[in-house]
Amino acid sequence: MLATVDSHIAGRSAPPLKGAYLDKFDPRTGARMQRVADSTPEDLDRAVAAASDALAAWRDMRPSERGRILVETARAIRRNEERLGAIESRETGKPGIEMAQLIDLTAQYFEFYGGIVNVMDGEVINVGPGHHVYTRRDPFGVIGVILPWNAPLHQAARAIAPALATGNTVAAKPSEHTSGSLVELARIAVEEGGLPPGVLNVIVGKGSVIGPAMANHPEVRKISFTGSVRVGQELGRIAADRVLPLTLELGGKSANIVFDDADLDAAAIGSTRAFTWNSGQWCAAGTRLLVQESIHGRFVDKLLTAVAELRVGPEHGATSGPITTHAQFLKIQSYFEAAARDGLTPAIGGRVANDPRLGGGWYIEPTVYTGVTNDMTVAREEIFGPVVCVIPFKDEGDAVRIANESDFGLAAGIWSRDVGRVHRVAARLEAGRIVVNDYSGGFVQTPCGGFKHSGYGREQGIDALSHYTQLKSVIIKL
Ligand code: NAD
Repeated sequence: MLATVDSHIAGRSAPPLKGAYLDKFDPRTGARMQRVADSTPEDLDRAVAAASDALAAWRDMRPSERGRILVETARAIRRNEERLGAIESRETGKPGIEMAQLIDLTAQYFEFYGGIVNVMDGEVINVGPGHHVYTRRDPFGVIGVILPWNAPLHQAARAIAPALATGNTVAAKPSEHTSGSLVELARIAVEEGGLPPGVLNVIVGKGSVIGPAMANHPEVRKISFTGSVRVGQELGRIAADRVLPLTLELGGKSANIVFDDADLDAAAIGSTRAFTWNSGQWCAAGTRLLVQESIHGRFVDKLLTAVAELRVGPEHGATSGPITTHAQFLKIQSYFEAAARDGLTPAIGGRVANDPRLGGGWYIEPTVYTGVTNDMTVAREEIFGPVVCVIPFKDEGDAVRIANESDFGLAAGIWSRDVGRVHRVAARLEAGRIVVNDYSGGFVQTPCGGFKHSGYGREQGIDALSHYTQLKSVIIKL
């Protein structure tokens, strides 16, 4: 019997009105594993109506009470860590060992925004004794949240928690490839966290159907979208007609720069994780590895040693799991062909992992290309798989020029012991997050978002609160 994933609307499971379902396949085996609701715009209407009905009571609740419910939701998420982690690991193929950290982060968003809502406020503006002027931050109303499949609960929480904290209600659409974990989170939030029904609704279905319907829905007042540039642009066209505010968290082709004064052992290990974490299915992955010419040979040897030690597989403790969708599995392979057309041969990897123990799963060998130039297809386009391009550079100016020669600007890494250089380069890189001597994903408290085609608006940190509220001035003549 296949598991069925239905929408969660007004606090209850809500099968699709037309009764249609999509097939979802297991990335570890290629076998059919779930029936996922193929919702229609009428199903979406129900989700948005539930969010609209719940809005006034939620918006007008004391912030401290909303915050308390979000913190209770975080507690419930932590209590259900194993269950949520198992669903997400199964749907994405992520190694089980990764899940504790991801569920912890998911809970942290509810804790952080549940706490900070108590100090979120406007300000008094002194324009002279004749007036009393102040600002307040009002919620938008119903917010549509559209999500990708690569870190489903983490990305859902970082949008949903600040949206709810600020008094909005939400209709969230997870990827059709990874819907079950967010449906389960919504159920837990209502049944254990005390979230009033209708405040958070999850609508399951195809992006091409539900996404445009959500952006066109007159009661949806803002969209927070995390996903590809192509879909972000489509939403942008709809938003232009409706003057609908968007937060767009899109793709990346991030530069990770290793200078000759860096700790090369740490840089080799960190740079390996930068492009192989989550099998490279990471928007901020460091996939253009810029290495100073003077240490190029030595550094590449260390990198290849670190990559050769990775364990790709379905097991709990694997360092890399499979690719989550079959389309993405094929897309990565098409970049191996593009690399060959540009005359590149992989220094390691460059093919589907064909160990018999991996069965029919969608595994790709972690891949390093050396001798890449920044104009090659594999250096320009987001591959979204465990593939890194090593690009040599001469000096600081050269590194910054190459790093910035990209349509994207999501993240960047710097490896150097020279404090002056670190600050100079960080200031000149066109990217929303710079990580120094550690290529990590940042923290719940640190803003995240892109320059250029990587998007606009920010998630995470205090700044996200301004993206889920609209500022109002009140001017009183005394
Ligand atoms: P995607 O754009 O294909 O899909 C994202 C979501 O949009 C899914 O829920 C999908 O169903 C929906 N969708 C599809 N067509 C739509 C349409 N026409 N209108 C509205 N919604 C539609 O992206 P994906 O393949 O799920 O995820 C991978 C992409 O996401 C990569 O480009 C990656 O870089 C990006 N990403 C960005 C961040 C970030 O924080 N910047 C984080 C994770 C992933």
